[in-house]
Amino acid sequence: MKAIVYRGPRQVAVEERPDPKIEQPGDAIVRITTTNICGSDLHMYEGRTSVEEGKILGHENMGIVEAVGPGISRIKVGDRVSVPFNIACGTCRNCIGGWTSFCLRTNPTEGMDGAAYGYANMGPYDGGQAEYLRVPYADFNLLELPPGTEHENDFTMLSDIFPTGWHGTELARMQPGDRVVVYGAGPVGLLAAHSAMIRGASQVFVVDKEKDRLDLAGKIGATAVDFSRGDPVEQVLDATGGRGADCGVEAVGYQAHDPSGDEHPELVLDNLVKSVRSTGGIGVVGVYVPEDPGAGSDAAKEGRIGFDYGTFFAKGQHMGTGQAPVMRYNRHLRDLIIGGRAQPSFLVSHELPLSEAVEGYDRFDKREAGWTKVLLRPSESA
Ligand code: NAD
Ligand code: ZN
Ligand code: ZN
Repeated sequence: MKAIVYRGPRQVAVEERPDPKIEQPGDAIVRITTTNICGSDLHMYEGRTSVEEGKILGHENMGIVEAVGPGISRIKVGDRVSVPFNIACGTCRNCIGGWTSFCLRTNPTEGMDGAAYGYANMGPYDGGQAEYLRVPYADFNLLELPPGTEHENDFTMLSDIFPTGWHGTELARMQPGDRVVVYGAGPVGLLAAHSAMIRGASQVFVVDKEKDRLDLAGKIGATAVDFSRGDPVEQVLDATGGRGADCGVEAVGYQAHDPSGDEHPELVLDNLVKSVRSTGGIGVVGVYVPEDPGAGSDAAKEGRIGFDYGTFFAKGQHMGTGQAPVMRYNRHLRDLIIGGRAQPSFLVSHELPLSEAVEGYDRFDKREAGWTKVLLRPSESA
């Protein structure tokens, strides 16, 4: 089969790989119909992780079940499914508690709970930017979708970024009527904003500097805040009578930068502490890492991010963090799509065959205007 493989910083290649096989009784093989490039893939693409060369990338996968192992009873060949990016066993303490993003069994990496497809430090699993994908514990993990091809571009957001955006609002303990500030208008930030609107926010601010992304935020009814035109904190405080938003979502991550492009990993956390009111919540879904050899300071190289913890404490705020447990939300979000209440496909800008993925990575990585979310279609040839 054809697959997208990591070959070093800013290098991916389309390569021939053996088709995946059933290895365990609970496995399924999924023929991928749509797989997305994610902002999380860019941390690897830019050489800012320890991902090994030769890894097949891709954790945002959906498709049709092609084969199932002898231990499978729920899922059937021919089912149309969304594959949560978390690989979870379903029976460990964290899975039973609903925290499939911290499964205790599926990731053999020392000190890391939780596994994923095609990702640095998340276990030995191939990704789905390929024609086929092996799914462990498939009866537990796979989400069934209505047959056919309807809503393909909406449903493809169920494997990661729609649940992740929703999780950001959940970690922030958002309530109906809240004013919500979201930092980052990438796909995750935009779907956090979409989630906040669906959950009854009275106003949603979205902070970024990329005009096309801010325009999309405006299109879904959010208030765009351009941080290249002045301090975003002042803009949010001015718009809220000096009080600040009721809660906030961090959808940027450790490569946060200032308007000139210089990285400051503490910048967005500091801005959130300042632009959220006292006792408000902050949901951090942007990724931070324990080791970042490419960081600008010695502390940040060891994951030590010097944000304003003093003000955070003084304001009595709370913060929730981590990878999203997709399964906690994906059934509800699927049904919101089917019911016409959610349209996460609004951010799709490109639908490409695998052969054009190399260019897709390059242009999405440069945040080129108009490249907001790239979907790959492995069954289509260029
Ligand atoms: P992205 O890189 O496309 O978007 C990030 C956006 O942040 C960009 O538009 C950038 O211009 C903006 N930005 C940079 N510095 C900023 C600043 N100082 N203030 C405001 N905005 C700033 O990525 P994405 O796909 O939207 O993902 C966002 C983050 O979420 C990444 O760190 C990704 O790894 C992470 N993520 C986490 C999970 C999870 O489960 N927790 C899942 C998916 C993605
Ligand atoms: Zn993703
Ligand atoms: Zn588990």
